[in-house]
Amino acid sequence: MSTMTTAAQAARQELTGFRGRLIGPGDADYDEARAVYNGMIDKRPALIARCADADDVATAVGFARDHGLLLAIRGGGHNGAGLGTCDDGVVIDLSLLRDVEVDPGNRTVRVGGGCTWSDVDTATNEHGLATPSGIISSTGVGGLTLGGGLGHLTRKCGLTIDNLLEAELVLATGERVRASADEHPDLYWAIRGGGGNFGVVTSFTFRLHEVGTVFAGPTFWPAEQGAEILSVYREFLPSAPRELTGFFAFHIVPPGPPFPEEIHLRKVCGIVWCYVGDEQDATAAMAPLMQAVPEPLMHGVGPMPHPTLQSAFDALYPKGDQWYWRADFVNEIPDEAVAIHQRFGEAIPTTKSTMHMYPIDGAAHDIGSTDTPWSYRDATWGSVFAGVDPDPANVGVVRNWSIDYFEALHPYSAGGAYVNMMMDEGQERVRASYRENYDRLARIKAQYDPANLFRVNQNIQPAA
Ligand SMILES: Cc1cc2nc3c(=O)[nH]c(=O)nc-3n(C[C@H](O)[C@H](O)[C@H](O)COP(=O)(O)OP(=O)(O)OC[C@H]3O[C@@H](n4cnc5c(N)ncnc54)[C@H](O)[C@@H]3O)c2cc1C
Repeated sequence: MSTMTTAAQAARQELTGFRGRLIGPGDADYDEARAVYNGMIDKRPALIARCADADDVATAVGFARDHGLLLAIRGGGHNGAGLGTCDDGVVIDLSLLRDVEVDPGNRTVRVGGGCTWSDVDTATNEHGLATPSGIISSTGVGGLTLGGGLGHLTRKCGLTIDNLLEAELVLATGERVRASADEHPDLYWAIRGGGGNFGVVTSFTFRLHEVGTVFAGPTFWPAEQGAEILSVYREFLPSAPRELTGFFAFHIVPPGPPFPEEIHLRKVCGIVWCYVGDEQDATAAMAPLMQAVPEPLMHGVGPMPHPTLQSAFDALYPKGDQWYWRADFVNEIPDEAVAIHQRFGEAIPTTKSTMHMYPIDGAAHDIGSTDTPWSYRDATWGSVFAGVDPDPANVGVVRNWSIDYFEALHPYSAGGAYVNMMMDEGQERVRASYRENYDRLARIKAQYDPANLFRVNQNIQPAA
């Protein structure tokens, strides 16, 4: 490519068989095509290769590699650090790879590498089935799965990676392979937590569970009671049955339905529940906590289809808000940490900013710490301190609150963080998050991607 030829022009000349769309800076839809979920990220790729199939993916990988261009892979585009895009390089946009095939007999689902969880949850719910994902349905299957997958069904069914049966990938060489327990088992191990470091996943196959209707919703108390509720919650949740989960949160009640008007915009602490089962069993499972705490402001639980719970936060958090977040794994929550939560929880700076504490025990603890790269199997929670606001003028405010909250609690953490909830925090933080699994990941990286072509991610550096 001469210095006068842009990557988009070169791609149009060279990639004549490309079936999807090649989008460059001169195109009318360039700005829309380059936008990712986090409004804080404003990157300008030289080429967006919107692939129609796995052959297109292999073509785009080869183009970036052969021209020495930086390469980013975009699944759902939700990554907080903006790892689904890059400046001046090639973005492989998987948003057209959206097929979902449910096999109810074998209880599996095969999904395209560009699906969002909404695509998957809707299709599997028609059969009364689900695979564990996160808590927002617009998140991409690709990034969430490859980093681990923490959500409403973790305690009952494990992490998303614990339900990944196989994946089809395009490697840095352009070769297409299947990774499973029987084929490329080392690659299969690495992609269950090691992120997009090893190739572009064009399809995932997951195990499904009998989850149709859940009993779910939020319970809110005044934020001033945060320490009291959290002190009961920290003892209660780990001993609750696996059918029940509930993440603890501080936030501000959105000013609209289904929330009663008298609590609109009130600072609250709360638990967002999900019980896989009926109302009677759910109520019994929640009872030890509910009987030990003050009367809530709102106990908004009820039966609902699993996709309704999964999409409950979608409208509150649309694409384009400014996001800055930090995260940590937590084993225990001592009184000193409870007091810090109280201080920062009451000081939430904007209506969309929030702190969530996701349980990661139950079925997630059935898997050993080296069975997948996700080493923190002994952690009890994954905390995330999310500063969010639509107004770019508030970036400093939400960023500072998130970092200060994180830094105050970090001494009480387990050390590393869930890679999917990290910003660009440097190599030491990536190592700390994989602990003893990092070196094995680095060896597999050296085998599958020795030149580190796939490096727009929480990067595993190839072993020497
Ligand atoms: C509002 C919100 C809510 C969230 N809630 C949860 C939650 O409940 N649970 C949870 O576990 N996480 C959650 N996350 C974090 C989420 O898992 C990560 O942001 C994840 O990276 C998003 O995946 P994506 O495909 O949308 O992202 P992208 O930005 O498209 O990609 C993120 C990374 O994954 C890689 N990647 C994506 N798809 C592929 C693929 N097919 N092949 C190879 N590499 C790929 C990219 O290269 C990039 O490095 C949430 C994020 C947001 C913003």
